[in-house]
Amino acid sequence: MELRLYDTLTKEKRVFTPIDPSNVRMYVCGPTVYDFAHIGNARPVIVFDVLFRLLRHLYGADHVTYVRNITDVDDKINDRAARDFPGLPLNEAIRKVTEKTAAQFQADVAALGCLPPTHQPRATEFVLPRADGRTDMVTLIKQLIARGHAYEAGGEVLFDVQSMPDYGALSGRRLEEQKAGARVAVDAHKRNPADFVLWKLSSEHEPGWDSPWGRGRPGWHIECSAMSAAYLGGPDGKDVFDIHGGGLDLIFPHHENEIAQSRCAHGTPAMANTWMHNGFLQVEGEKMSKSLGNFFTINELLQTKKFGSNQWHGYVLRLAMLMTHYRQPIDWTVDRLVEARKLLKEWIDIAYGAEPESDDPPKEIIDPLLDDLNTPGMITVLHALHREAVRLNVEAARKLNSALRFLGIWNGEKTSEIYSFGYEVKTEVELLLAARTEARARKDFKESDRIRDELAAMGVVLKDGKDADGKPVTTWEIAR
Ligand SMILES: [Zn+2]
Repeated sequence: MELRLYDTLTKEKRVFTPIDPSNVRMYVCGPTVYDFAHIGNARPVIVFDVLFRLLRHLYGADHVTYVRNITDVDDKINDRAARDFPGLPLNEAIRKVTEKTAAQFQADVAALGCLPPTHQPRATEFVLPRADGRTDMVTLIKQLIARGHAYEAGGEVLFDVQSMPDYGALSGRRLEEQKAGARVAVDAHKRNPADFVLWKLSSEHEPGWDSPWGRGRPGWHIECSAMSAAYLGGPDGKDVFDIHGGGLDLIFPHHENEIAQSRCAHGTPAMANTWMHNGFLQVEGEKMSKSLGNFFTINELLQTKKFGSNQWHGYVLRLAMLMTHYRQPIDWTVDRLVEARKLLKEWIDIAYGAEPESDDPPKEIIDPLLDDLNTPGMITVLHALHREAVRLNVEAARKLNSALRFLGIWNGEKTSEIYSFGYEVKTEVELLLAARTEARARKDFKESDRIRDELAAMGVVLKDGKDADGKPVTTWEIAR
């Protein structure tokens, strides 16, 4: 069976044929590092990690290049730096914000079972021409001006959308419609209201780089055109790569503009051959927003009890995400996480005792993934393997073991390590046990029973016994 992927540009599911099977190339837009990543940001990271794993399996781990950028220049970052470090010079404050946030992002997505991409370029390192000759933003903008696709006006360098006849093909927005919908107060220096910024001048209070157009900073879209070309430029200089991914919200204007820049700078018919977009994420049926109080960062789900009074292990969050096909909208609910936790526990209980079948994942698991990353179909197969495995089918248990590892929803840990939820819960069990021992000592059996029930609700089973000196001791374990 061949890999088939849905392409947003042509709106069809097509057989995936890499340009160069010895180097399959994928780019996914990464985080803007000014704040903790929220659970909606986690979706593309997990989805494209599964695709990365699948491509590595199909073409060999050394034959896939996955680039996910880090946007570390952005006005939101400047605002945050000024707010959080008012006493520091701006550049230093910005570095503090971006370094801390980027490190947090890496820790969060590692907890979600994601492999590190091959390259994680930071935008600020690709603004000016580089010693290693990799593509940079200033050179790319110069090329666009030289080819008649960009112009300087009003302290900005702008992309001239009318210079590209099929601008708008990805999002299906035609220029005439955009004109009609544009606000009345259009920037007067633009030739067309849809023209977008490639470079803008910086005030002395803003970060900037010296360029042919004065001290300024790049627009957001040009970053991805530069960093994708820097690492994914074709073997014969063609600058078309295989897969470009991101969330649905990036189709317009971000990806539309990336395509315009890259194609016009390189003179190619495409930027990437397949455009993949994951669907939106809602929380308990509503759009996630800070004002609604349903806004959750990955870190909050991992480390606090803000969502459903629970800490959630990264594997549980990952499985919960994969229960819905990546192109469908996902409703992020406590019920969903409870369900994922229950399933994962059942599967790991069986898989733990079995040796992995081999380093390779079982074919049954790969097949649904070949059909445009059909993760719900893959979960159906996991159910079937589990059903067989509990009937003492050793082969099925071994396959389950291999499959869970391949999917990144388990890495061989004991169930208790996952279900004691690392950070705090273990301590909480110990505290409750101590309280119960005290209650029993003062013969408050009502209270000691209440604590036992509370622990039972957490999945903790108690065993009362006596130690060598005949003193009562209680041990505990996670119910299996
Ligand atoms: Zn991008």
